[in-house]
Amino acid sequence: ILKVKNIHKSFGDLEVLKGVSFEVKKGETICFIGPSGTGKSTLLRCINLLTQPDQGSVWLGDAEVTNSGKNINHFRQKIGMVFQNFFLFDHLTAIRNVEIALIKVRGMKPKEAREKALEELRQVGMEEWAEHYPAELSGGQAQRVSIARALAMDPDVILFDEPTSALDPELTREVLEVMKKLALAGMTMLVVTHEMGFACSVANRIMFMEHGEIKEQGSPEELMSDTKFERCKNFIGQFD
Ligand code: ATP
Ligand code: MG
Repeated sequence: ILKVKNIHKSFGDLEVLKGVSFEVKKGETICFIGPSGTGKSTLLRCINLLTQPDQGSVWLGDAEVTNSGKNINHFRQKIGMVFQNFFLFDHLTAIRNVEIALIKVRGMKPKEAREKALEELRQVGMEEWAEHYPAELSGGQAQRVSIARALAMDPDVILFDEPTSALDPELTREVLEVMKKLALAGMTMLVVTHEMGFACSVANRIMFMEHGEIKEQGSPEELMSDTKFERCKNFIGQFD
């Protein structure tokens, strides 16, 4: 469903992505791990065109995302993104945060948008908090609202950039539970994370990135058992 072909990206003299390629099938969950500064966030941002790659292309089905011109908003809806710091609108209630794009971007009627927003909040266990403002929510609850907001656009793929790294362990767990449920329900997901437990139990494939390249990749089983994943294991070992 998603193809990333030979993506290069530099900031000035700094080459952050040095030719990254991979394919994701519908329903797969791919986890990206690797040291800080190796371009994981930049890669996700290139995939939904928050940043323009210097070279290479991104494809969603048969359509080229990197050459989308005025269709860029279409692809931004189809490739949802969830950030470390939620990025909710502070002056809007949880449900307003979820429904606003449905009304403003998709032109849905307010009543219809409200129903859909409530349904998405239900998916993440937040319907009882619909009328609360972000400041009244825990980090885990806020993150679940931001997942509901991404889901509301009926995306083909959702990109998660360290969705739990701003959260305490207990709140992390509730967000990972929601993500696991989505994965099991067949959502296609790319997840940058340090949560190896989640990666090993949910990911179809784990990609180890270093210095702007995918250095090693495989199923969690392969990664844990195979000797060719030395570097990746050294990296993971830091967290034990
Ligand atoms: P982390 O694990 O810390 O989140 P990361 O793998 O996500 O790291 P990136 O955020 O993609 O790494 O950053 C890779 C490199 O690119 C870093 O050296 C960063 O400083 C640099 N970089 C990222 N965005 C920009 C930008 N807009 N302008 C200049 N440099 C940038
Ligand atoms: Mg990052």
